[in-house]
Amino acid sequence: MTSNKTPNAQGGTIRKAKGMELPREVLVGHDTLDNVGGACKRLKMEGPALIIADSNTKKIAGEAVIESLQQHNYEVLVTTIEDATIEEVERVKVKIEDDKINLVLGVGGGRPIDVAKLSSFHKEVPFISVPTAASHDGIVSSRASIWVDDRKKSYDGHTPFALIADTAIIAQAPKRINAAGCGDLISNETAVLDWELAHKEKNEDISTYAKTLSKMTAFVIEKYAEIISAGGEEGAWHVIKALVASGVAMSIAGSSRPCSGAEHMFSHKLDAIAPKPALHGEQCAIGTIMMMKLHGGDWEALKKTLVTIGTPTTAQEIGIGSEFIIQSLMEAHTIRVDRYTILGSGLTKGVATELAESTGVI
Ligand SMILES: [Zn+2]
Repeated sequence: MTSNKTPNAQGGTIRKAKGMELPREVLVGHDTLDNVGGACKRLKMEGPALIIADSNTKKIAGEAVIESLQQHNYEVLVTTIEDATIEEVERVKVKIEDDKINLVLGVGGGRPIDVAKLSSFHKEVPFISVPTAASHDGIVSSRASIWVDDRKKSYDGHTPFALIADTAIIAQAPKRINAAGCGDLISNETAVLDWELAHKEKNEDISTYAKTLSKMTAFVIEKYAEIISAGGEEGAWHVIKALVASGVAMSIAGSSRPCSGAEHMFSHKLDAIAPKPALHGEQCAIGTIMMMKLHGGDWEALKKTLVTIGTPTTAQEIGIGSEFIIQSLMEAHTIRVDRYTILGSGLTKGVATELAESTGVI
């Protein structure tokens, strides 16, 4: 996607150009996995299809996906992965090549989807996202989070061609994982504030559609916090729909900007330095509380919502030492120097410590 500045509103010449990569089909609801084969046929997908799952997600969703594809005469191959590592990505790329795969389906909570996304992107074949948990907005975005030498790295990939989510399965996912997904969505609030700040202070392009949609997903989660915390299928429905909308906001913007600000940089820094990083959405949630305070917003209300949902709000809950929280706050701004946020040119140790303590994070 490219975006050029409009030279002059009065001049009559609009030189703006923009492209958006969006999923062609989104199917969310009860027992939707029976429709995977039909959706592939409608989308004129060719086989053979390769399913990427882990040993657990193969059982809880993979078998149903295989059956549905076979009913529609697709040749189906399956490979299970241990984790979302660069080695697994390379192994799957060889498999795509050797078995002349024309379609890749990632079936899982996040890891199989990340491997499917990046390997299919490199081999230029379409991929379909079949999430079994609402862990983070990566289930519908173009970014892939992959382990390289014991550290998580974020890669450019492609947006899923289709997303098929079964709310009955997602409702059964561990509560901690779905609560982390909510943390990732609530972080849209501070991501948008950072984007507006960059627009105001650095004249960065901003998309009204993308930021409005992004903010709306956070509001939906806040509105249905009680229902989501109950852990049923209705809650799963709200979370998955919000994750899809969040992915669409990023597609409209052509970047992760509407859903990733200083709170994400804080989380990425923790991934780089903490001995045992927590879930992405959990770290982002804790980052959001602190960034909201820096923005002068109602961080206490935000924290209350996270507590209602069951998303961790303290360093202790996610098993990360105070020193890593403070260091991440001080160095987060170096993660993406091109992305201006409320952290500006960084926080001092005194300010970082005061921020983490006053918000109850440490
Ligand atoms: Zn995220």
